[in-house]
Amino acid sequence: MYHNTSPDEPSSGMNIKPETLKKQIKYLISKNYAFLKISQLPKFTPSKKHVVLTFDDGFASNYTDLFPILKKYNVPATIYLTGNIKGITTLSNDQIKEMHDSGLIEFGAHTMNHINLTKVDDTNATEEIVKSKQAVESITGVPCLSFAYPYGRYEQRHMKMAENAGFSTAVTTKKQIVAFSDSNPFALPRLSVNGVMDSTQFYLLITRGRFKL
Ligand SMILES: [Zn+2]
Repeated sequence: MYHNTSPDEPSSGMNIKPETLKKQIKYLISKNYAFLKISQLPKFTPSKKHVVLTFDDGFASNYTDLFPILKKYNVPATIYLTGNIKGITTLSNDQIKEMHDSGLIEFGAHTMNHINLTKVDDTNATEEIVKSKQAVESITGVPCLSFAYPYGRYEQRHMKMAENAGFSTAVTTKKQIVAFSDSNPFALPRLSVNGVMDSTQFYLLITRGRFKL
């Protein structure tokens, strides 16, 4: 799990420098990881090492700084878009369309207003989930199949809402390495990559699911 990929902002839990990310991708390639988009995951057996790169919130830097790297190495990724997220520079519809049309990027939904679903009533939560799916589909023109819970906050009922909305997977922020076949498809764990990690910490994260900063 990543978020911002800006060369101009400090490395943090929310931002990774493109150069650092490039090194991590090259490392994963060298270790023969197969890169998938999130909705390809259910189709693969757990016999191989698969990795899904995900980027939450729809930062514009995912187009300007991440997309060129993905194209260079022919590596797919999944980006979770939020309809009306405040305080960040987000991808334009044209950028989303171009990335989608490249075949490398799958777009998932991440609610309309980046809300904590556990803090609103069920009607509101359902609306946030359903409308964000429709918003992504109105740009890409294809079914939006994956959902990310903002702040990793969800309860059983939100998993059901995501399923009822027509998603086939939903991702969380639970740190775990597990075969897809052993996971609940509506509560998939993810490993959060912190932009300040060095290569050893990254190695520990992707092999053990944890690291110390
Ligand atoms: Zn988010």
